Amino acid sequence: MKKSTSKLSSLQPEQLAAWVKEAINRSKSGQIPAYVPLLAEADRQEFAVQIRAIDGNILSWGSIAKTFPLMSAVKPFVLLYLLCELGEKTVFDCAGCEPSEMPFNSLTQLETDGGKPRNPMINSGAIALASLIPGNNAVARCQNLQTWLNQQANSQLFVDELMLDSVNQKRNQNNRDLALAMLKFGYLQNAEIALETYNRICCLSGNVEDLAKLGMVLVKSDEALWENCRTVKALMATCGLYEASGRFALRVGLPAKSGVSGAMLSVIPGEGAIGCYSPPLDREGNSVGGLFLLEQIAKALRLSVFD
Ligand code: GLN
Repeated sequence: MKKSTSKLSSLQPEQLAAWVKEAINRSKSGQIPAYVPLLAEADRQEFAVQIRAIDGNILSWGSIAKTFPLMSAVKPFVLLYLLCELGEKTVFDCAGCEPSEMPFNSLTQLETDGGKPRNPMINSGAIALASLIPGNNAVARCQNLQTWLNQQANSQLFVDELMLDSVNQKRNQNNRDLALAMLKFGYLQNAEIALETYNRICCLSGNVEDLAKLGMVLVKSDEALWENCRTVKALMATCGLYEASGRFALRVGLPAKSGVSGAMLSVIPGEGAIGCYSPPLDREGNSVGGLFLLEQIAKALRLSVFD
């Protein structure tokens, strides 16, 4: 048996299975988002989780081969990529680093802030950052991000073209309004390419293994990346779950990021990463089942960074 150096490795499969069962039960109270037709078709009962420990132990449960779009769970990795490519000054001139108190797609929040996105974890911030990704067009930009991420994480992210068609089928006026406001206030040069890139990178897809492997990039923090990884983890902890981030810090105490697909990633500094997929969402747009499971694991194993 492998020598265990991570608290995560003490988690027993039976215990995980019991929590997952309860997580699926609780997720019945959640809603499946309707604004992307293909997301609306998600199976409410579907559940997958992979826990990767720094010592190499891996524990998985559920539909682990099921692929889903990362949606907002890609945002920490857009941030990481741009911090590495362009540096902190360029990135934080474009989007701030303060938590937001309004929903992830709030135009009021953006206007209150004079057109500068509060942080890179909400839609305005991610749309603004998408416009900084190197490449001549949305396809090239997304490809550059995808290649870099797959290299860093040893993951197999791909663009789900059917999902992208579905995203494009219903015009997202809200995101468009965010882009136009940023254009007006001078935080964006080209709204079209920013939106096109943003929609495409949100459709980068993979399974819970890919999600957990992405999380491990932030945990392993290679010498060349460690400072930027620290920045990303801090922003996940303070802004990753939008206006629920403060509450989550008390209950769980880990950097995390959700996506409207039901993706939920959490990283445990120095210990490992947890990738989870469960489509029903709460009012704030976070996976009900994912949140429940993370809380159980964090409490039982005392994983909170504040423990
Ligand atoms: N593409 C989604 C949107 O713009 C991402 C949002 C999310 O996952 N919260 O609405």
